[in-house]
Amino acid sequence: MQTPPHSTALVLFSGGQDSTACLAYALQKFARVETIGFDYGQRHRVELTQRVVVLAELRKAFPTWAARLGEDHLLDLAVLGKVSETSLTRDVAFQMEQSGLPNTFVPGRNLLFLTLAAALAYRRDLQVIVTGVCETDFSGYPDCRDDTMKAMQLALSLGMDKRFLIDTPLMWIDKAATWRMTHSLGTDSGAAGGGQKLLDLVLEHTHTCYLGERTQRHAWGYGCGTCPACALRARGWQQYIDAI
Ligand code: ZN
Repeated sequence: MQTPPHSTALVLFSGGQDSTACLAYALQKFARVETIGFDYGQRHRVELTQRVVVLAELRKAFPTWAARLGEDHLLDLAVLGKVSETSLTRDVAFQMEQSGLPNTFVPGRNLLFLTLAAALAYRRDLQVIVTGVCETDFSGYPDCRDDTMKAMQLALSLGMDKRFLIDTPLMWIDKAATWRMTHSLGTDSGAAGGGQKLLDLVLEHTHTCYLGERTQRHAWGYGCGTCPACALRARGWQQYIDAI
């Protein structure tokens, strides 16, 4: 039997808060879901450990999702760390560049990720590529823009002669809304206490901090508490808590 359209997805899954919310979204929406991650020499390499933990915890706590969750693929992308000089791949302080972009910007990173994800999706016969890029809270990263995603969808579909959809569930929502979405996805999963369970899983096991810090536990999870990624995560959690 032929697979119905848009029932299979590949999720760009880093082990962070956003991509975990995207994975939950995909597991609720699609019949078969696989995940892809990249090792590009990131300073916060601990996220590569945490992504495996998050996958295992999701399987344990959400049986209906476990049945849909297929293979995880980790690709070696060391070449990205070799061509880029940024604070994500080198031991330099976070700062704003003259271009107005933070030096955490790794030029071409998402473009490369999407291209490799599409190549894998082609081989695995997966139709939708889900990614947690977001324009709302974004740090000005041009490769997170909606227009960039639409251009990539067109380029990949034409270049591989296969219709890909790039699904970006977080594009127009802020971090507080991402927490709300996480809670409702957990509830919709049908697991007992699923909303709170998914929130707890994200808080405890996902990794966001650029410095790879996991010794300090805050209300919003682990991290140094001061890098731009921690600041965004902490603010979003506070706004979410204040609104409920
Ligand atoms: Zn941090």
